[in-house]
Order: sequence, then structure tokens, then C-alpha cells
Amino acid sequence: MAKTILITGSTSGIGLGIAKAFAAQGYNIAFNGLEPNGAEIAQQVADEFKIKHTFSLANLMQPEAIRGMVADAIKTFGAVDVLVNNAGIQYVAPIDEFPEAKWDAIIAVNLTAAFHVTKAVWGSMKERKFGRIINIASAHGLRASEFKSAYVAAKHGLVGFTKTIGLEGAPLGITCNAICPGYVDTPLVEQQIPQQAKAHNMTEKEVVEKIFLERHAVKEFIPVELLAQTALFLASDLAGTITGIAMPVDAGWTAQ
Ligand code: NAD
Repeated sequence: MAKTILITGSTSGIGLGIAKAFAAQGYNIAFNGLEPNGAEIAQQVADEFKIKHTFSLANLMQPEAIRGMVADAIKTFGAVDVLVNNAGIQYVAPIDEFPEAKWDAIIAVNLTAAFHVTKAVWGSMKERKFGRIINIASAHGLRASEFKSAYVAAKHGLVGFTKTIGLEGAPLGITCNAICPGYVDTPLVEQQIPQQAKAHNMTEKEVVEKIFLERHAVKEFIPVELLAQTALFLASDLAGTITGIAMPVDAGWTAQ
């Protein structure tokens, strides 16, 4: 029987790349995301790889909507074998100009939602003595950059959450690991270029060269496909003794 994966924020960027890689392995996929054409994107992946899927527009800032999304996935597929807490948002500004509402939203989506989704799938994983939880943290879960107070706080929090859930899941056959990517060329990165340019008083071209790729020892963006393959590895049966780690996939950023 096909395994099921639930991926938050899977109708764009890294989440969509992970969805395609798992679809290629025949997984059922519970998609989620706020893209207005999300249902269409999910359907395209399902058609291409001939898999079963659900799509939820659940806003991860609403715990009730999260519980509904997880209940639907379990009702449709019988269980959730793999959970990827991937959805995330970003905002870049100096602390004295950082809007309170942006702080609250970033903590809610990038950190608190992972708690709610994990709590909601836990019973299903525990019952079947199998689960793989993968949190898409960031190199910013291990290192800081100026003007990203909320994002860095949330991602460091997500790494701490990963370690705790790794320990709690160990006796239950459930692993929990974080992937910590460097810069990946997705809409999340594209939309912060003008904010970074303003905060650093640079041109947009300088932002790419001096802010993004400057941090990478290998001067390239991280391919989405590499993150998807890393997730597949952590989700494999063989990876049952890897838990509680924060794995950099960051072009050498955190080696420095
Ligand atoms: P993206 O903007 O392409 O995708 C984010 C997804 O999250 C979208 O599907 C969006 O609809 C969804 N989302 C956002 N807010 C939501 C909400 N309230 N409810 C439901 N869904 C919501 O971004 P991405 O670059 O693919 O980012 C994915 C993850 O990877 C994020 O957690 C991000 O912090 C992390 N990350 C990205 C990079 C990078 O350079 N792009 C680097 C490190 C970590």
C-alpha cells in the first residue's frame, strides 16, 4: 500500500519540489498552501505521477484549520506516514522598524504551526509505530543575519522543537529531523530582494551577490531537487536511527 506524506506549503518552491520527488516514489500526497492556483498545481503533480492526493487551503495561522487538514488526510488515506513542516514566510527590517504583525505571523507560520501539525499527526504515527517528521528549518536555524529577527528566532526555535520531538518519538518509531538549507531560488527569496536592498542600502544585484551568495562557500543557490532528495533519505525506512538532527544543506555556510 502506498505511503502518505503531508507537506505544508507544497504548492510553491521547496515544498512543491519535495512533493514531486515523493510523488515519483508513488506516495499519496496531502498538499497545502495559500497559492490561489494551488488546487491546479496539486492536480498537475497528481496527474503527472498518477498518485492520489488531497489539497487543503488551510491557513497555518489557524490551529482549527490545521486540525481539519490533518483529519481530512487521515480520513482519506488512513494515516500520515511522513510529515514535512515546510511552509514559511520571511520579512526583513531593522528591529526598530520591524512591524509587530510581521513578528507574530512569522512565529505563527514558521514555528507554532509545526507544533500544531505535529501534535495532530502524532496519534496516527504512534498507533502504527512509524513516523517521519521533517522540519524545513534554515541555515538561519543555526546562524543569524541582521534584520531577520523574527525569522532567525523562529528557525532556531524549530531546531529546538526538532530535538525534543526526536527524543519523544524515539521509543515510538517516530523520527524528527530538520533540514537547514542555505539560499534557494524560490518566491520567498525573490520577494525579500527589495526589502534587503532597502535595509542594506544596496542595489538588488548587490543583494544577490553580497548578501545571498556571499554566505555560501560554494557560490551557487541550493537546488530544490537536492532538498527533496535529502527529505526522501530522511523519510526512508533505513533512516530510523537518525533523529533530532539539524542537517545543513547550505553550500558550506555554517562551516564558517
Ligand atoms: P515559498 O514562498 O516558495 O513557499 C512557501 C509556501 O508556504 C507556499 O506554498 C505558501 O503558500 C505557504 N504558506 C505561507 N504561509 C502560509 C500559511 N499561513 N498557511 C499555509 N501555507 C502557507 O518559499 P520556499 O523558499 O519554498 O520556503 C519553504 C520553506 O523553506 C520555508 O520554511 C522557508 O523558511 C525555508 N527556507 C527557504 C530558503 C530559501 O532560500 N528559499 C532557505 C532556507 C529555508
